[in-house]
Amino acid sequence: MAKTIDLWGKTYTPPPKGMYAGQPGKGPEGKKCRDCKHCARIRLSKTYTKCRRMERFWTGGKATDIQATAPACEWYEVPHNAEVTGRAAAGREGPR
Ligand code: SF4
Repeated sequence: MAKTIDLWGKTYTPPPKGMYAGQPGKGPEGKKCRDCKHCARIRLSKTYTKCRRMERFWTGGKATDIQATAPACEWYEVPHNAEVTGRAAAGREGPR
């Protein structure tokens, strides 16, 4: 369940932390950043998730990381190899 904040009598859902190309939640219904062509998982001593559309702004800090589970933004694109390596093709599609 998404957290909400009450501000001056109105209820808002705070956006997920990170540097997203667009506004999370404006993309296709049910899609998340991890399903997007632009989602980059950078494996070093830890794994960092970033949006490739924002690559020119990347820093070594977590301020430019994104949450893989964030709802997709309006720049969402289906990966080219979605049919081959997608979660559904791997049989890992399930309730989220
Ligand atoms: S949906 Fe795609 S383009 Fe949008 S912030 Fe997430 S990874 Fe980037």
